[in-house]
Amino acid sequence: MARKIFIAGNWKMNTTLESGAALVAGLKETLAGIDTVEFGAFVPACYLGATAANAAGSNFQVGAQNMYFEPKGAFTAEISGDMIKDCGATMVLLGHSERRHIFGETDELINTKVQKALADGLQVILAIGELLEERKAGETNAVNERQLRKGLAGVTAEQMATITIAYEPVWAIGTGEVATPDQAQEAHAYVRSILADMFGAEVADATRIQYGGSMNPGNVENLLAQPDVDGGLIGGASLKVEDFTALITAGVAEAAK
Ligand code: PEP
Repeated sequence: MARKIFIAGNWKMNTTLESGAALVAGLKETLAGIDTVEFGAFVPACYLGATAANAAGSNFQVGAQNMYFEPKGAFTAEISGDMIKDCGATMVLLGHSERRHIFGETDELINTKVQKALADGLQVILAIGELLEERKAGETNAVNERQLRKGLAGVTAEQMATITIAYEPVWAIGTGEVATPDQAQEAHAYVRSILADMFGAEVADATRIQYGGSMNPGNVENLLAQPDVDGGLIGGASLKVEDFTALITAGVAEAAK
C-alpha cells in the first residue's frame, strides 16, 4: 500500500510569535497547492492558536510538542488534548527524545499520553530512538522495540490509522550527524516488523515511519528513497522557509516516482 509521505517540523523552543508567523507565511507561499505530501509543524504551546490561525486555508498542519494525559485540573503548566484542539491544532508529538532524556518521561507516562491523545481525536506522532551508547552496545533494535511496545500498549489496530512513528536516533538529533540511509532503513524495517507482530501486516504496511535526526536538503533525497522511510521529523532545518520547502519538495519528487 502506498503511504503518503509526511514531513513535520519540530520548532522546539526556538520561534517567537513573529518568526513563527513569518515561517508559516513563507511556507504558505512556497507550498501552495501541494497535496501529494503531508506537512506541518509542532510549535510552542503558547503559539498554537496563532499558528493555527495563520495556517488556516492551507495544507500546513499544526501540532503541539507535548500534552498531559489528564483532561483538566491542578496540573500547573500542563496542557490537555482539548486545549490543543481548542487552539485549532490537530496533532501532538509524544515521546520526543528531549522529553525522555531531559525531562525524564518514561515509556509508561508516554503511553498514557498516547492513549489520551487518541481518545481526544488528535493525530499522534510517537517518537522513539536509541542513544549512542545503546547503539554501540548493539541494543538499537531492543530499545526501539521496547519503546514501541510500551508506547503503544493498549492501542487498537483501528487507532493505528491516526498514529505516525518517528524513528529518531538520539545521536543524530541536532548534531549534524545523520544516520546513513542504510542505518535508517534497517531500523525502520525492524520497527515495521514489530508493528506487524503487534497489529498485523496490514496495519504495519499502512503505518508511516518518519526518520528524524539532522535531516536536511542535502541528505533528504537518499533517506526518502528508502522503502520504509515515509517522511521526516525535522528540527533545525524546519526553521528556515528555504530548507523546509526543499525537504517537502523532495517528498513531492519521491511521491511522484
Ligand atoms: C528533532 O528535533 O526531532 C530533530 C530531528 O532535530 P534535528 O533535525 O535538528 O536533528
